[in-house]
Amino acid sequence: MKAEIISTGTELLLGKTLNTSAYYLTGQLSVLGIEVDYLTTVGDNRERLRDVFRQAWNRSQMVFISGGTGPTIDDLTKEIVAEVLGLTMKFDAESMKRIAAFYQNDTMPPQAEKQAYFPESAFILTNDNGTAPGAFIHKDNKYCIILPGPPSEMEVMFQKYALPQLTRLLDKDPESMKVRVLKVFGLGESELEQELADLLSDPTFALALLDKHTYIDLKMTVRTSDPVQAAAILDQQESLIREKLGNKVFAVGDETHASVIGKLLLAQQLTLSTAESCTGGLLGGRITAEAGCSAYYLGGIVSYANAAKQKLLGVQEKSLIEEGAVSECVAGEMAEGARRAFGADIGLATTGVAGPGGGTADKPVGLVYIALAYAGGVEITKNQFSGNRQSVREMTAETALNMLRLYLQEKENA
Ligand code: AMP
Ligand code: MG
Repeated sequence: MKAEIISTGTELLLGKTLNTSAYYLTGQLSVLGIEVDYLTTVGDNRERLRDVFRQAWNRSQMVFISGGTGPTIDDLTKEIVAEVLGLTMKFDAESMKRIAAFYQNDTMPPQAEKQAYFPESAFILTNDNGTAPGAFIHKDNKYCIILPGPPSEMEVMFQKYALPQLTRLLDKDPESMKVRVLKVFGLGESELEQELADLLSDPTFALALLDKHTYIDLKMTVRTSDPVQAAAILDQQESLIREKLGNKVFAVGDETHASVIGKLLLAQQLTLSTAESCTGGLLGGRITAEAGCSAYYLGGIVSYANAAKQKLLGVQEKSLIEEGAVSECVAGEMAEGARRAFGADIGLATTGVAGPGGGTADKPVGLVYIALAYAGGVEITKNQFSGNRQSVREMTAETALNMLRLYLQEKENA
């Protein structure tokens, strides 16, 4: 199914509002296997919106429009869609009740009524977070999906009310695409291209590489109306990729490094603590972004100054003087210190030169030591990352999670 998205709103053209809805929708549609061919942004202007919608309707089977569903004069979307599709506007009493309830009756401005009018035959999409409902319109084997502007309203409406309609359509669509994404860590784009050269050149194997900075998405796409067959093909492709890449594949679909280590820690009933220098809490932030992490994450210490490393983690003064804060032995002592301080099974520590200043010939910007301490020992890796400060810090956090993942997976398989 070929689709396009129209984002309406003059504020989007003035650099006042970032078009996050387009980003959200393209991501959602891509996962569903709906191909987005065009993305257009247009201001709140009757003629231009009409032209843009007419062109979209002529060339695409599915048109998403966000914004312009509210009560004000510049909210034109539903009227213009009705005009182009030759539909009349019809009042929906049920929606009016909901809208009135939202305004709590007495404060409702008279123009709010406009939000209860829809192109005839539209399936109304309820707005749980605001007043302006959306609409799902089917005409001449094409679809127009109208969604509200504010992202908090649009995203909930999309998930709760538009998505079930779309899934139903796609199940009947002989051309529907099924997509699966594998996430790969530790290989650059060109290395990965080489590893997967034969799969990438195989025309029956629709595979795309997407660089996500700290990792790479491998997107597999299958076109078939039969979901069982699609799953079987994707399973087969996944195992071919895994055969080539082994444990470099760290996650599937929505999983992240942090969610994967969370599952492993839970399954093995192990607890984790962190000690961070150059990442300054970024690593703990990733771990705690996962709901339910309190079951395995005990806490972290951000020990930036040498004194903090000594006092809070028990790092030896001798190590700091002789080897320096960015060194193998300090990283190891930090990880052991974190383990001890929290009474955790595993301690994970980072220390490095994030830059842009502070580098020396011996210890250049991007040099990072990461240590993993556990009951039987300590593993320490020396890494040389490239890029700016943010890039070095992000790579450090991801590499630390990766180290922990590999350790836990090895343990699981032992
Ligand atoms: P509207 O329904 O067009 O009046 O939009 C209401 C508000 O939603 C706007 O003022 C913006 O703050 C926000 N908004 C509209 N469209 C978008 C978009 N594509 N991305 C992010 N925010 C948006
Ligand atoms: Mg608007």
